[in-house]
Amino acid sequence: MDLDEFRKYGHQIVDWMANYLENVENFPVKSQVEPKEILNKLPLNAPMKGESFSQIFSDFEEIIIPGITHWQSPNFFGYFPANSSPPSVLAEMLTAAIGAQCMSWVTSPAATELEERVMEWLRDMIGLPKHFCGVIQDTASTSTICSLLTAREKLNNYEVNKLGLFERSILTTYCSSETHSSIEKAIKIIGIGKENLRKIPVDTEYALQSESLQEVIESDIDKGMKPMAVVATIGTTGSTAIDPLKEIGEICSRYNIWLHVDAALAGTALLLPEKRWMIEGIEYVDTFVFNPHKWMFTNFDCSAYFIKDPEALVHTFEILPEYLKTTAEGVKNFRDWGLQLGRRFRALKLWWVIRHYGVEGLQQRIRYHLNLSEDLKKKIETSVNFELLAPVPLNTICFRYRPSNVSAEEELNRMNEELLEKINKTGKIFMTHTKLDGKFTLRFVIGQTAVQEKHVTKAWALIQEQSQTL
Ligand SMILES: *Cc1c(COP(=O)(O)O)cnc(C)c1O
Repeated sequence: MDLDEFRKYGHQIVDWMANYLENVENFPVKSQVEPKEILNKLPLNAPMKGESFSQIFSDFEEIIIPGITHWQSPNFFGYFPANSSPPSVLAEMLTAAIGAQCMSWVTSPAATELEERVMEWLRDMIGLPKHFCGVIQDTASTSTICSLLTAREKLNNYEVNKLGLFERSILTTYCSSETHSSIEKAIKIIGIGKENLRKIPVDTEYALQSESLQEVIESDIDKGMKPMAVVATIGTTGSTAIDPLKEIGEICSRYNIWLHVDAALAGTALLLPEKRWMIEGIEYVDTFVFNPHKWMFTNFDCSAYFIKDPEALVHTFEILPEYLKTTAEGVKNFRDWGLQLGRRFRALKLWWVIRHYGVEGLQQRIRYHLNLSEDLKKKIETSVNFELLAPVPLNTICFRYRPSNVSAEEELNRMNEELLEKINKTGKIFMTHTKLDGKFTLRFVIGQTAVQEKHVTKAWALIQEQSQTL
């Protein structure tokens, strides 16, 4: 593609993107294709000769778009959001055009130093203490692996990296039964063994029970095991439950255990001073992760990872073959702050998002989402045929249909599963589910960049209407 063509198509595509975002709420939110439908439309072999851009683009519209679930639709209420926003998309285009590989300072000093400064902004914006140092990772899953690896090395004098895990005491890690699956995945990957991950029971609000935590830790110590880390969740994926950080922190400090906080979604809510009660006890925390790529209008991927002792992190990952040696001194080389060598220039989009909205603009949007959530919560609470299934500290409402003439749990589970299927089939909104206490639970998450009150109102009407067809 010569640059004249690039310019021409580039403008067309920006127009396409603006039209898409303008009309995205009219698409069926959940893609309605059947399994293999897209695959069967794609040729078995790559083309031998290059094709025209207009042909490529028309296939994108005709084959690919029908197979897209529209995460940027204001009618998307599933999972947790993966928000984008216009300033973020524009920055991402520049990142692609510049195409820098930002593994070390010298490979693009601006990328490293912008990341350093923007992460300081972000740390201060969400009320983390100044002793935290930040780095951008691709996902919370990766951030958690980094945290637990650092915990493993620090506890073992950095010897596992050298000698392997052979003939050492069993290392145990603790989290609640509501913790995200990425914790178990990390434990498997880093050689701890998932049987040494203790899932501590939760209370009636789905938060970790700290008395149980203490008991299990003591019993493991009695058996000769070495407690390595606790993962506390601020905003669980099921119901946004908030683990009692201060109590957990006190236990960790008593037994000298590493404390990692997973606030993948809820970190964004810490932009609001009135939500900072969630991190009371932050002084005990070693590492903290939250994803601006969920609720903070920064398109996937962008996970903010903060660490109290960056030397321990670098000591865990550092490796210096001859071909990577540089002479620059007193600079950060982020290749030593995580798993991969190569790194994308992610700080640019985060910088643009923060500058475009400003802290107050971000706060205003998050407050709006929280107010919409509170309103819907009240409607569900007072409705005859629906019931809330969990507290609503943030933007996720867990509830179910419960007509007065049905009380058998199995029947309720079946009805709610069918209701969810019917709702999503309409294509008008998209929701997902979880299981709380064995109950099939509908989750309604309000965090989409473009969501407004009218979308939530219409969605609630649709849910009620569909429940009448069961
Ligand atoms: C979404 C989520 C994760 C995983 O995030 P990725 O960035 O996709 O790895 C981890 N923990 C919690 C609590 C989450 O909600």
